[in-house]
Amino acid sequence: MQPVKLRSHGKAGRSTIKESWMEEAAYEAHRLAATTHPPDVRAALNKALERESKELPRFVMKAIVENSMVAEEDQRPICADVGVLRFFVVAGNEASMEGGFVALERAVRRATVRVTRDLALRSNRVHPVNRRNPGNNLGVFSPNIDYRFEPDADWIELIAVHKGGAFGSDFRMMVDGDGLNGVRKGLVDAIAEFGRRGLTCPPVIIGVGVGGTKDQAFSIAKQAAVLRPIGDRHPEPEIAALEDELFDLANSFGLGAMGYPGTGGYALDVHVEIAYTHSALTPLGVHQLCQAARRGVVRVHPDGSIETRPAPSWFSEFFRRAGI
Ligand code: SF4
Repeated sequence: MQPVKLRSHGKAGRSTIKESWMEEAAYEAHRLAATTHPPDVRAALNKALERESKELPRFVMKAIVENSMVAEEDQRPICADVGVLRFFVVAGNEASMEGGFVALERAVRRATVRVTRDLALRSNRVHPVNRRNPGNNLGVFSPNIDYRFEPDADWIELIAVHKGGAFGSDFRMMVDGDGLNGVRKGLVDAIAEFGRRGLTCPPVIIGVGVGGTKDQAFSIAKQAAVLRPIGDRHPEPEIAALEDELFDLANSFGLGAMGYPGTGGYALDVHVEIAYTHSALTPLGVHQLCQAARRGVVRVHPDGSIETRPAPSWFSEFFRRAGI
């Protein structure tokens, strides 16, 4: 699927991205995330259905695929649990925004309130202590926004992620001697703990973060699960080979949709991200993104044109600091 231009203002030469355009883009990114599976996810779900031969998981997979199509047609949420609404922003280093990043954050918050109301999204964000619910998915640190910057670009890319799957995340500190077996064991333990009981709503996309600092291992694992398209492989051949191996491993237990014994497969894909780490220790993070793998990607250009994109451009050589 190619990028789709939603509109073109045709004002060549304009150089500042307006706050209202950012709000329009944030709204569209939210709408897509809530209602429309990305093309890579839809294709992978269809393949999982084709592979499934056992009656019960096939029945479930069929319902998942039909639900995906109905949600898009009717513009309704893919899952009643809308997950946790959040944003990732790729900001071009040459982009100029009316009101700067503060205006962008205002635009994102306004769009979040509007889309919650317009699509009747459940307000999932509550105060963690007194459980007060503002009713609009806003709150302290909500929606959270993560940024990265792209050299030689004058656009802003807004990526809405509605992350479900309360279960399925795991963290552990490995020692040097654990090596790759420690990574394999971490993945298997996470699947045994949550996946085989259906708590992750499989089939899932698994993100594995190896190395860095503790918080980094956890966050790159999350980003690997939610921001890399299915089929994408890490640029380092050794890590790409590990992704293939872990994908086979995750699908070697005879689990299908919702954790039922089946032939359709447990994982739609496994993505591994690495970060250089302490010489004696290696943190490991594992994240599982449920079948309601929801992301919407919209890019705003300084001429006012806005386009939807099939996949985020979050991971890049610059972001991984590989070529600096
Ligand atoms: S884990 Fe995903 S599919 Fe399951 S209830 Fe939550 S959002 Fe819905």
